[in-house]
Amino acid sequence: MTSAATRPHELKIPGARDYLMFVDGAWVSALDGAYSDVTTPILREHVIARVPAASAADVDRAVRAARAAFPAWRSQHFTSRASVLLKIADAIEGRSEELARLTALDTGNALRTQARPEVATLVNLFRFFAGVAGEVKGTVLPAGDDQLQYTRLEPLGVVGCILPWNSPLMIAGFKIPAALAAGNTVVVKAAEAAPLSVLALAEICAEYLPAGVLNVLTGTGPIAGEALVQHPGVDKVSFTGSTEVGKHVARAAAGRLAHASLELGGKNPSIVFPDVRVDDDFIANLLLSTRVHRQGQSCTAGSRLFLHRDVHDEVLDRLVSALAALKVGNPLSESTDMGAIVNGTQFASVCEFLDDGFNASKVVVALDGSSATMTDTDGYYMAPTVFTGADNSWRLAREEIFGPALVVIPWTDHAEAVAMANDSHYGLAAYVWTRDLDLALSTAHALETGWVQVNQGGGQMVGQSYGGYKQSGVGRELSVEGMIAGFTQTKQVNVRVRSL
Ligand code: NAD
Repeated sequence: MTSAATRPHELKIPGARDYLMFVDGAWVSALDGAYSDVTTPILREHVIARVPAASAADVDRAVRAARAAFPAWRSQHFTSRASVLLKIADAIEGRSEELARLTALDTGNALRTQARPEVATLVNLFRFFAGVAGEVKGTVLPAGDDQLQYTRLEPLGVVGCILPWNSPLMIAGFKIPAALAAGNTVVVKAAEAAPLSVLALAEICAEYLPAGVLNVLTGTGPIAGEALVQHPGVDKVSFTGSTEVGKHVARAAAGRLAHASLELGGKNPSIVFPDVRVDDDFIANLLLSTRVHRQGQSCTAGSRLFLHRDVHDEVLDRLVSALAALKVGNPLSESTDMGAIVNGTQFASVCEFLDDGFNASKVVVALDGSSATMTDTDGYYMAPTVFTGADNSWRLAREEIFGPALVVIPWTDHAEAVAMANDSHYGLAAYVWTRDLDLALSTAHALETGWVQVNQGGGQMVGQSYGGYKQSGVGRELSVEGMIAGFTQTKQVNVRVRSL
């Protein structure tokens, strides 16, 4: 075994460096000088960076800067804001490889299968919301010739965006360009575990945005995140993260009547009907829906797989073979399909769920990822695990594992399958697999989730509606309608027009 000292270089991990936060157009450390370490999951507990640990005072400084920048930013013609967003999109594209590598480094998401596509989505999101800037339009009521009664869709003010670690750039892209296009100014709090690509995004935006329009902080949830949610100068909190923290954020925002939208967890059903053609294309899409390429660390992972008994064994065999063939290893390597789990805490949490599965009496382990051989065992690597013979009441079928583990549940009756799919406190995403159009659409309409995909398993498309039912969230921000509902407020203006 090579010594730990030489491993970072061999594993393509760059040397550690200190980063600063971006506040009011300047790169700053925390006011009290505090820093925290950022590690990479490629080499356990290996520090790759130090980032400032923002306190409430830093949050206050950023919110004040965003407030000061708001009047000028909101007053611009929409084409000016659109033009800035388009320039940022081009600049992100120009530095996309650097952003993808940073993503792979701090999240563990594999460069080829995950990190590069995330950056490509980010570019598209900036372009999409540049186009949407002109859609923030009001209405005129036909109230007679002596009245001009119209609405204006005005920005909310300062939006506080709180990000998770699992795909930080994509989630930043759901929030930042949407908020900015509508004329808001923004304070972002990056996730503790994965702040580096978000700081690089701030560096790109800094070239084109006036000071204070976008501020990016690093720091912990309980200190910096909490201060952002509580700050009276923050008009809206746009939160993506766990349901548990989301409930707390919702309560805090409601306490001061701030706007809030919440994108939370999911335990997403994937229903396979007996008429599916079990070919390579189907298996490839089913694989995508499980989000194993992101180590299962996705809120939209189809992690509850309902297989009709007629195709149960065939689909399971093919799926298990495909999962077992994935190459798990260094996310920075081109040959890697599936990278590393983000850190030791998350790794331990997934292991605890798996142990529950391995010890359950009636459950069959169709694939045991915990015993798979890895190319690089120094990182937090884990191959996929598949449990079968489970029922929908089992803990692992109900709780979000947020790791590469699937629970397979057999079914025969359509109504029963839909009932099991809906028997969850989550309601984020769902997948339906059938060649029967009536069946596909009636099932899609019956599912209690904010997003249903039929016969495909990929990620969110730019412009689509996205958000949760039930405890998977509140609000929509991604579509044109969602952006308008999520980042604007309506003002009615009634004018008496005196006849000449
Ligand atoms: P998390 O809830 O632990 O943290 C999310 C963010 O909230 C982090 O930036 C964290 O620092 C911050 N935070 C923590 N405590 C806070 C507080 N008291 N006040 C304000 N902010 C606080 O979630 P995570 O572990 O980073 O991400 C994984 C979770 O996110 C999963 O449950 C996943 O399903 C969910 N998620 C949802 C979506 C979606 O679009 N619905 C997308 C990605 C991730």
